[in-house]
Amino acid sequence: MTVHRPLPDATAPRPPCLLVVDDQPVNVQALYQAFAADHQVLMATSGEQALALCASRQPDLVLLDVEMPGLDGHQVCQRLKADAATRDIPVIFVTAHDDEAAETLGLELGAVDFISKPINPRIVRARVRTHLTLKAQSDLLRQWVYLDGLTGVHNRRHFDERLANEWARALRQGSDLSVLLLDVDYFKAYNDRHGHQAGDECLRLVAACLGRSIKRPGDLLARYGGEEFACLLPDTPLPGALTFARQLTAEVAALGVPHGGSAVTGVVTVSVGACTKRYDGAGTAAALLREADAQLYLAKSRGRNRVCGAELPIG
Ligand code: GH3
Ligand code: MG
Ligand code: MG
Repeated sequence: MTVHRPLPDATAPRPPCLLVVDDQPVNVQALYQAFAADHQVLMATSGEQALALCASRQPDLVLLDVEMPGLDGHQVCQRLKADAATRDIPVIFVTAHDDEAAETLGLELGAVDFISKPINPRIVRARVRTHLTLKAQSDLLRQWVYLDGLTGVHNRRHFDERLANEWARALRQGSDLSVLLLDVDYFKAYNDRHGHQAGDECLRLVAACLGRSIKRPGDLLARYGGEEFACLLPDTPLPGALTFARQLTAEVAALGVPHGGSAVTGVVTVSVGACTKRYDGAGTAAALLREADAQLYLAKSRGRNRVCGAELPIG
């Protein structure tokens, strides 16, 4: 999956959002009435309108008329399935014809079901409910694949995919791209002193603290491994990345989590290595990470609880 979307808050229930598409307002009205009580219902009377709404509003399911002037239902479905941003939205065709060929084509284009007009509201509701349940389950699974089980922040898989995308974008657009690697100081000693469970809780606290500090929508925080976190900061030159990294170290220290085994201070701290690809720079995403890791090593050797950073060499 290449598209970054903010993860929906699984604890906030919201009514499912349906998009009803039909060039005949009377048909749109019939479906609206079947669902309005307990769904958010978006309406479109053309294929073009439907595509625009799918891109901007990401409905949970589309009820799509086949025969429409302009873009017909089959073409709309084909375009939805061809775009990574909309391909996971289930499509149910609503058609007047008892036409086997049209039904086969619709299913081949990726529709999940077929409903014939005139609609029977109870049947439509039952089928829609089934597909909404399946959609919610697969959304949840998709999220879990990209989340770290201990801390709830993104995992390394997600970080690596986003890094590859952001690297390509930064090269294409000639923009800055910074990464931070953060590592908890003397964490082995923390576990030894306070126990492994307290160590896990400490990682959760640090992750939550870092997560609160990430404010720009394009920025990403991930658990990179053990007691190591990574931040991806698009469009951020080195001075900005260093300022942000210093703010992160200050905020982790300010949590005041007692650390009996730290040679730095009495509380949990992190060291940070930063590396930036300049707007006019080149190289590889792997080199960016490697240099951030080298800077992290430097921050450790210079006393920990601090930030070191560098730009990738140009050329
Ligand atoms: P430094 O300041 O140089 O980073 O020292 P350190 O002790 O933090 O580094 P080291 O790499 O020697 O030790 C990392 C420790 O982190 C060892 C490992 O047991 C612990 N660790 C890694 N993942 C987890 C985890 O998920 N939970 C807990 N509790 N500990 C973990
Ligand atoms: Mg480490
Ligand atoms: Mg460490």
